[in-house]
Formats: sequence, C-alpha cells, structure tokens
Amino acid sequence: MEKKGLLLVVSGFSGAGKGTLMKELLDHYDNYALSVSATTRAPREGELYGREYFFLKREEFLRLIEEDALYEYAEYAGNYYGTPRQYVDEKLAEGLDVILEIEVQGAEKIKKQFPDTVLIFVTPPSADELKRRLVGRGTETAEKIDKRLKRAVEEAKYMPFYDYILVNDDLAESTVRLHDIISSEHAVSARNRDFILQITDELKIVTNEKGE
Ligand code: 5GP
Repeated sequence: MEKKGLLLVVSGFSGAGKGTLMKELLDHYDNYALSVSATTRAPREGELYGREYFFLKREEFLRLIEEDALYEYAEYAGNYYGTPRQYVDEKLAEGLDVILEIEVQGAEKIKKQFPDTVLIFVTPPSADELKRRLVGRGTETAEKIDKRLKRAVEEAKYMPFYDYILVNDDLAESTVRLHDIISSEHAVSARNRDFILQITDELKIVTNEKGE
C-alpha cells in the first residue's frame, strides 16, 4: 500500500468543531501532522504562538507573502491566514499525512496546486446547531458571530467541490470516520501505481521460479 504522505484539507463552518476534531484525531493516531498556519488575528485565550497559529503583525505576514513562503493565503473576517510551505514539505517527506485546517478559498488554491489533495468539509447536522455552538463557545462578540454565520452562507457554496462531507454530530464517531476516509484514500488504486507495478513484477519472478 501507498506509504507516501497525503495532503488533506479540512474546512468547515466556524463552530463546526474542526479544531476539536483535529485534536482528537492527532491524539488517537500517529500518522498525521497538523499544519500550523500564520495569521494576523489576535490569539484567543489559551492559544499559543507556534501551537494554534504563528500570530504575526500585518507587516510580518505581508513579508511572508513577498518571500513566497506560503502555499496559499486568504482573508477571513478581516484577518490574513496562510499556510507556510516549510512544515508541509518536511512532514510530507517524512511520510506523514499532512492536514491543512483552512477555509474554502485556501482549499481551492491548494487543490489547484496539488490536484491529489483530499478535501473534507466538516459541518454540524444543522444551521441551528451551528449557531448554538458559536454562541456557546463564548469567545466572540454577537457582531462577530453574526459575521461568521453570514460567512457560512458563502462557504456552503463551496461544499459541492469537496470530496467528502463529514457531519460532526458525535466527536468520537466523527474522529473514527475521518480516519477511515483517509485510510480509504490511501487504498485508491490510482495512488498505488508503484505497488501495482511492483507486485506484477514479483508475480512474474515467482511464477518463473516455479517454471510456469
Ligand atoms: P479561526 O480564527 O477561527 O481560528 O479561523 C478562521 C478560519 O480561518 C477557519 O475557517 C480556519 O480554517 C481558517 N484558516 C486557518 N488557517 C488558515 C490558513 O492557513 N489558510 C486559510 N486559507 N485559512 C485558514
């Protein structure tokens, strides 16, 4: 089976529970690396530089763009977010599956550069549930929540372009399902051309050995 790392994009409405899902996935399986993005947004309580994000000043972020150090970047709710190239390259080379937890425009840019990328969209079961989770999180003002819900309407338009829609109802169940999706992607025959060639050659040798 394919040993090379896969590039995965996980997107979803703000409040869909992507962050918790990613944490759960990384806690339970060791073949994943979660890319740490750069952003100009201020850290939320409990967030650490280099763990959740590389929190940068606007000028610092613009410098990364100038230096072509990002695979993609996008503006979201008034802030810049971008994927640094280096970490992604390193982890893929190590054979890990690299997950980019990014929004829809970034996903589109990544898919264009790397058509093999698997795109997964995480959503709560309903819009009511989404609103409940955003309010319950208690980290954003009412105005910001409203902004994020309006943004969700726009993001929903991208859902048909994703390879998978993952309804995140139960966290433990969703984690297993996400891992299963990724495992299945490794088994796709188009990703295993080298293995197919290898076993074909091996079969020839084995049958010759038997004089057939
Ligand atoms: P938050 O501020 O809630 O952490 O993230 C806001 C949005 O930005 C989320 O949809 C998140 O997936 C997205 N995001 C985080 N990092 C990146 C990135 O590097 N590039 C892009 N395009 N979006 C990102």
